[in-house]
Amino acid sequence: MKLDTICVHGARDKNNHTGSLAVPIYQSATYAHPAVGQSTGYDYARVQNPTREALEGLVAAMERGREALAFSCGMAAMDAVLALFGPGDHIICADDLYGGSVRLLASLERRMGISVDYLDANDRETLQGALRPETRAVFIETPSNPMMKVTDIRAVRETIGPAVKLIVDNTFLTPIFQRPLELGADMSLHSGTKYLAGHNDTLAGFVVTNDAGDAELLRHATKTVGSGLTPFDSFLVIRGLKTLPLRMAKSQENALALAEFLGRHHRVAKVFYPGLIDHPGREISLRQSSGFGAMISFEVDSEDTAKKVLEKVGLILYAESLGGVETLITYPLIQTHADVPVETRESLGINGRLLRLSVGVEALEDLLADLAQALD
Ligand SMILES: *Cc1c(COP(=O)(O)O)cnc(C)c1O
Repeated sequence: MKLDTICVHGARDKNNHTGSLAVPIYQSATYAHPAVGQSTGYDYARVQNPTREALEGLVAAMERGREALAFSCGMAAMDAVLALFGPGDHIICADDLYGGSVRLLASLERRMGISVDYLDANDRETLQGALRPETRAVFIETPSNPMMKVTDIRAVRETIGPAVKLIVDNTFLTPIFQRPLELGADMSLHSGTKYLAGHNDTLAGFVVTNDAGDAELLRHATKTVGSGLTPFDSFLVIRGLKTLPLRMAKSQENALALAEFLGRHHRVAKVFYPGLIDHPGREISLRQSSGFGAMISFEVDSEDTAKKVLEKVGLILYAESLGGVETLITYPLIQTHADVPVETRESLGINGRLLRLSVGVEALEDLLADLAQALD
């Protein structure tokens, strides 16, 4: 089946004999056993519940991976992945990551004796030079948050060889536009809170992998600490995924038009969107993804303008998060990236003039009008 069809029909409740089209919310904490030593496949909801199971099958099919695991949020997914590593291990990260990921990595460095290096993952020589015998993983986001840097996933795989795990945060593009496992990654990670769920009404996280051993270790995390997604939230994500291809297409169409508008505006100094002709990552994007997504960062002429825009937007909401049907604007410096060290922020360009837009599915004319009045 094609991806659009999988999104609509891919969540299967194998226990359903009623004909219900929607996968039910199995709101049960525990499951009765048919006989001693036997199980229906479900024992206790921390371990697995049928609603989550249906969602996991759907997300695995979308990413064309062997197995997907659904977590209570993106950071819980990331925490489970990082728990695969231990004292003495070395992890290489792209230098432009979600602030929460940087915060989690910093705490692992302090508590777990894991060492982490940040670098430009597209610089093959630097990446090669940073590899050590104890390097276990390379972690990247592409496009990155918030500077929209595009990293060549295949090139990173070639550079690091087969023994080092390549983990890609695929939140921004979703499997509709990019499937990291097909490009050589070992794991594709998601904040399902964003596009996958898509309506700013729930949190979720995913890890997709082809490695049965890794999947089992990750299952151990959900089973042991209960970081798996609840039945109700699983239901919401299944519902959201049905329209993911439509939402991605419409938000991307809006984003391209807004990026072009911003590029022409006299108060805007720079626009970071891979779909723009002069974006340095455009070529790589065209090779490895089938879309540019709907995230735009832009730098205005002064900090004062940035603050005014945040206060003057009306339809566009000044709020953290992204990937929902509503267009949101954020101030990375004091919101998503407040925990990134100052020197890193400065060198990346995360300053008081930088704003980030998550473009939603509203009418383009309304978004343009709101942004124009806020900038003027
Ligand atoms: C939001 C986000 C996360 C964290 O996910 P939560 O669901 O908020 O825990 C991780 N990576 C990226 C790129 C994100 O945007």
